[in-house]
Amino acid sequence: KYHEQLVELKGNIRVLCRVKPVLKEDQREEGQAVVVTTDPHNESALTVMNKGKGRTFELDKAFHPQATQEEVFQEIEPLVTSCIDGYHVCIFAYGQTGSGKTYTMEGNSENPGINQRALKHLFNEIEERKDMWEYTVSVTSVEIYNEVLRDLLCKDGEKLDIKMNPDGSGQLHVPGLRVIEVKSFQHIKKILAMARRNRITFGTQMNQHSSRSHALLMITVQGIDLATGTKTTGKLNLVDLAGSERVWKSGAEGERLKEAQNINRSLLSLGDVIQALRGRSTHIPFRNSKLTYLLQDSLGKGNKTAMVVQVSSLESNVGETLCSLKFAQRVC
Ligand code: ADP
Ligand code: MG
Repeated sequence: KYHEQLVELKGNIRVLCRVKPVLKEDQREEGQAVVVTTDPHNESALTVMNKGKGRTFELDKAFHPQATQEEVFQEIEPLVTSCIDGYHVCIFAYGQTGSGKTYTMEGNSENPGINQRALKHLFNEIEERKDMWEYTVSVTSVEIYNEVLRDLLCKDGEKLDIKMNPDGSGQLHVPGLRVIEVKSFQHIKKILAMARRNRITFGTQMNQHSSRSHALLMITVQGIDLATGTKTTGKLNLVDLAGSERVWKSGAEGERLKEAQNINRSLLSLGDVIQALRGRSTHIPFRNSKLTYLLQDSLGKGNKTAMVVQVSSLESNVGETLCSLKFAQRVC
């Protein structure tokens, strides 16, 4: 029985690692050695060389640097299907700035990432099920910067608060949050573009904003079984996390230090929450940060989570790479 429980928990949180390929612009410094290697015979192992010593990490899956957006999405697709079946799903991209989080989640026009592929899959599935189920899809999108929540679907980036619903249902509620009902994949592509533009606009008002903010795209899928009237509510939360680098090492002071601590607060609490969920503790510290508070109804037991840990393979980043993989192992 205990073993079954373990298997079930393990099944609910998948930790994947993606190694960023070495790009031309990364090679400016001479003699940059590649220190991260994947194992062609073991798709869950990743080895990092540091000061002459190798350390191997075991994850659910390690993608080699040439892995395509399609290959990465194949690992995520079953979770997207679960969300149509009524599960609450979270997909996170974690890693230091520049390691490929946004590439993995958003991608670009030639190589769209998880967000677009997930939504395409979602609308295809809904179309296939249309004789038996009727679905309504709605979307919200927020950014969390310095523990402040802003609406990415509003031009003025209205600041928002999270409240426990006054109707006593215990559900979370974000007053004023813009919710858009989405009719098709084409429609949501436009909404994603708007969220991206707004994120860039807010970003230019602040220093290094985009690397220090968490961007969340939250999809709700409500279904009705046409024969029986049975209702389901699935959620798909797609999260491009802030850079995980230890900002305090750069000598940040005052406002910058406070900001750094707040960013790390959300990341650390996320780690704490996932670790608590994997264990058997009854207290899950959701309320320690905006990020975990907002996602609490999707992170609990019975829901599904995938974390894509992004790492650089270059020697100059080895410290951050080891930190990210230790984080991965902690939640793994
Ligand atoms: P982050 O969001 O973690 O700061 P980005 O996603 O912005 O990092 O990636 C940094 C740069 O590297 C971008 O120019 C991005 O297009 C590029 N990049 C990241 N991962 C890949 C990849 N797998 N293949 C090609 N280019 C990539
Ligand atoms: Mg980014």
